[in-house]
Amino acid sequence: MTQKDTLVFVGTSDIAGIVRGKSFPKSEWEKRLKNGVGWTPTNIQLTCFDSISDSPFGAFGDLALVPDPATRFTIEGGEKPLEFAIGDIREPEGGAWEFCTRSLARRAVQELHAVAGATPLVAFEHEFQLKDKPPRAGDAYGFKGFRDGQAWAEAYLAALRQTTCVPDTFMKEYGPAQYEITLKPVKGIKAADNAVILRLLAYDVLGQSGVTPSFSPILDPESVGNGVHIHFSFLDDTGAPLTYDGDEAHGMSALTRHFIGGVLKYLDQILALLAPSEISYLRLTPHRWSAAFNNLGYRDREASVRICPTFSTDETARARQFNFEVRAVDSAASPYLAFAAIMFAGTQGVKDKIEPPAPTEEDLAMLDPAALAEKGIKRLPESLPEALVRFADSKAVRSWFGDGFVDLYKAHKLGEMAQLEGMNDLEKCQKYKDVY
Ligand code: GLU
Ligand code: MG
Repeated sequence: MTQKDTLVFVGTSDIAGIVRGKSFPKSEWEKRLKNGVGWTPTNIQLTCFDSISDSPFGAFGDLALVPDPATRFTIEGGEKPLEFAIGDIREPEGGAWEFCTRSLARRAVQELHAVAGATPLVAFEHEFQLKDKPPRAGDAYGFKGFRDGQAWAEAYLAALRQTTCVPDTFMKEYGPAQYEITLKPVKGIKAADNAVILRLLAYDVLGQSGVTPSFSPILDPESVGNGVHIHFSFLDDTGAPLTYDGDEAHGMSALTRHFIGGVLKYLDQILALLAPSEISYLRLTPHRWSAAFNNLGYRDREASVRICPTFSTDETARARQFNFEVRAVDSAASPYLAFAAIMFAGTQGVKDKIEPPAPTEEDLAMLDPAALAEKGIKRLPESLPEALVRFADSKAVRSWFGDGFVDLYKAHKLGEMAQLEGMNDLEKCQKYKDVY
């Protein structure tokens, strides 16, 4: 009898946030760890609909997708065991490819460390909905919805525990068949790795129970969206927390305040990376509990950046728990690019000591632009084309990501939008529903 040689899949999460890659026999792991698998530059211009946007590379060039052993996991048992690792895209000479999303995120983490000696401790919070389930009364945060999902949720959590992900909470969210899962925070790019793994295992594991999740930003223009909220705190090299200062307003240390200042100053310019689909902008509207203005909220769930509550009277525990979340992200975004953009903008804020606007305490949708301007607040771009103009015109974004990447990303998104021409909002939502 011939012995089964399991396949290991090495994947990259690309500009579209889609995991693509190749597999190889497990017996070749050591060799592939050095050489990777062959990869094509123009693959980065594959849109989420599999069309190919304008590519500066055409049919030319060769790259290697090299697995990172720290991301490798095996899911045993079940009908389809899985061997998986996330890869970095490298030049044939071995250096990081300048358009590798994971390498960009790694560079962003290094820059904050160089500027402030701080490492981000990060947790992604994901919302998703089960496809084709009609709304049911009494289901918002409800026990019935939880029980409906408990069997697949437990299988899902068990699978996540076999990876680098450590589940935190699982709950029935507000929307129709909407659920939320959070992971424990981890340092640096591992958090984005875990977001990649969390999404791919959702399709894999829930599919085995006969339900199909969609992480798409919004399934129905009339309903709520599926957000990704990214929680941040900071540690120094000894592991001590740097986020909290009990003597400062709202508990923010100077590092936290300036980082948030940078994120909010540049939010309109990085939004095309955080909310990167046309339908993302149906979610980023007032009163959808997402984010519509570049505002700071103290425990306000309609703020782009929200200072989260801590539940402790002990100052040491509070300093460890203290964190803020960026709420303008969705799952059409590459976890690496959204994370990198927030890190670059925040680091710029730390370098330039940018002060954020004061936390808002009222309904900003009721204020006119002049009243908003007085508070240092703007409505965020209301469409992807508008966000792309701010992105491509931003000197700051170009200095962080490089001109080559900015132009590539813009071309990618123009090609993606061309696939939606002539469709109404509902049709667009339906098209994205099956991708994410
Ligand atoms: N569904 C909301 C969003 O699109 C978030 C709701 C909440 O968890 O506060 O971000
Ligand atoms: Mg939620």
